[in-house]
Amino acid sequence: MNHTPKIAVFPGSFDPITKGHVELVKRAVPLFDKIIVAIGVNTKKKYLFDLDQRLQWLNDVFESEPSVEVDHYEKLTVAFCKKVNANFLLRGLRNASDFDYEKTISQLNAMVGDVETVFLISEPTYSHFSSTIVREIIIAGGDPTPFLPEEVKINLKEIE
Ligand code: ADP
Repeated sequence: MNHTPKIAVFPGSFDPITKGHVELVKRAVPLFDKIIVAIGVNTKKKYLFDLDQRLQWLNDVFESEPSVEVDHYEKLTVAFCKKVNANFLLRGLRNASDFDYEKTISQLNAMVGDVETVFLISEPTYSHFSSTIVREIIIAGGDPTPFLPEEVKINLKEIE
C-alpha cells in the first residue's frame, strides 16, 4: 500500500533554541518520516539573535539526526507547509497558557491550511525552559548555559 510520507514542520523563533526544543524534536523523530525545524521570520519582530546565527545553531544541533531538516520562512506557516508538502505541525505544550494559545492557532491552521497539529507535552525537567527566560538571563548578564544544547555557544561580550 502506498503511504504518504508523514512530514511535520516544527515552527518557532528559536531565539535561541533550548534543550526543551531539542528534547521535543527527539521524541517526535519516531513519529514522522521527516521533521522540518523552521524559523518563522516576522519582519516586524525584533530578535536577540539574527537569523543566520539561529539557523547555524539549529543545523549544528540536528546535524546527527538524518530525518530532521532546518529551514526558514516568511509569511504564513500553513503556506510554508504547503510548499514543503508537510501535512503536520509539531508544537510543544508546557502549561495551560501554551494550551490556550495553541488551541486557537491549531484550529485556524486546520481550517485554512488543512494541516493537523500534533502536540507533545514537555518533559517535566524542561517545562520551565523557554527562549524568553534564556534571553532575559542573557540580557541581565547571567549564565544561560544550563538551558542550552552544547552546540549553542553564546558570546556574552557580543550581546552587550
Ligand atoms: P514561538 O516564537 O512560536 O513561541 P518558540 O521558539 O518559543 O516559538 O517555541 C516553538 C515551540 O517549541 C512551541 O510549540 C513551544 O511550545 C515549544 N517549546 C518551547 N520550549 C519548550 C519546552 N521547554 N518544552 C517543550 N516544548 C517547548
